Amino acid sequence: MQNRITSLFGIKYPIIQGGMIWCSGWKLASAVSNAGGLGIIGAGSMYPEILKEHIQKCKQATKKPFGVNLPLLYPDIDKHIATILEEKVPIVFTSAGNPGVWTETLKAAGIIVVHVVSNEKFALKAEACGVDAIVAEGFEAGGHNGREETTTLVLIPQITSAVKIPVMAAGGIGTGKTMLAAMVLGAEGVQVGSRFVTSEESSAHNNFKNMILQAKEGSTQLSLKQLTPVRMLKNKFWEDVVYAESNCASKEDLATLLGRARAKKGMFEGDLVEGELEIGQISGYINAIKPAGEIIAEMVNEYNLALSNLAHKQLEE
Ligand code: NDP
Ligand code: NDP
Repeated sequence: MQNRITSLFGIKYPIIQGGMIWCSGWKLASAVSNAGGLGIIGAGSMYPEILKEHIQKCKQATKKPFGVNLPLLYPDIDKHIATILEEKVPIVFTSAGNPGVWTETLKAAGIIVVHVVSNEKFALKAEACGVDAIVAEGFEAGGHNGREETTTLVLIPQITSAVKIPVMAAGGIGTGKTMLAAMVLGAEGVQVGSRFVTSEESSAHNNFKNMILQAKEGSTQLSLKQLTPVRMLKNKFWEDVVYAESNCASKEDLATLLGRARAKKGMFEGDLVEGELEIGQISGYINAIKPAGEIIAEMVNEYNLALSNLAHKQLEE
């Protein structure tokens, strides 16, 4: 299948791996790109010299296109932009910020720019700023999320009818069937995060990967909405947040409770008690750690099977 997303990125399958802090370094990004999807290095948790190292290692590990996810609220963003330009990264996914600030600079360097949004207003704004495509991320997604709580099922048709540029769906997608559902709703590609956190090549700590395998439906919640809404696994740190919120904690109290580097502690260092464990609702469905290439092959097979099964299920008029 060829569509606007496969042509834009020069990839075989419209399966994009989310750029996730602490979980997606060069090993995961290159494995996904080598398997026909689009691998993305998550730059949000990387110091500038670490990002440079990961880009260089990714180029060694794959000759296929890959990208970098740049959260726009990153503290040393000028340095990351300079690295991306110097290293001639072909594709940048921006998130968590105003797409008006850097899109022109990146586009002027010939870079394909995608912006991640969680509502229609920002989808239109990103399109007006000249991005090439949009990721629309619904309520089910792990990590940073929108405040509106719009589910992927509702968000995708709304955004695909509002903008002209191609849309990738994210949030709750990690299987061939969920991918097909998103394509039926008008998406031209999908961005998959949680399923790749439990890939062999992900840099997430094994403790975190194993806890995801134990997750059930209802094991995550969108929390910390007064600060920045984040979907995470329910652990002791999450209980502390719920307790503080039920005692009317202020924004400042919550920022103090969160402290610094909670996400690193949980996801990279494997502290399942005190760490923040960002993951999506689909974690309840994940039950094995597999190579990224195998995850993509399974998604492709399941998509094709579900598509052919549906072809026989026409409604009688
Ligand atoms: P590797 O995954 O092979 O890690 C190599 C280095 O990372 C080793 O020094 C290792 O320390 C350290 N490391 C690995 N896992 C952990 C962990 N759970 N907690 C603390 N340290 C860990 O990566 P690369 O060579 O491929 O990566 C280069 C650099 O990028 C490293 O500094 C790595 O930490 C960092 N990185 C950052 C990511 C991010 O999102 N910020 C993601 C992936 C890597 P040891 O010698 O003790 O085993
Ligand atoms: P904190 O403020 O709690 O901690 C900062 C973390 O980022 C530390 O672990 C630090 O590593 C690391 N870091 C990497 N580069 C820098 C830098 N230049 N200056 C300071 N710290 C740096 O932040 P979070 O862990 O909550 O978030 C880190 C980043 O990830 C933010 O930029 C945020 O926007 C982004 N983010 C993106 C998400 C996404 O969905 N793409 C989701 C969540 C966060 P160390 O401990 O080794 O010093």
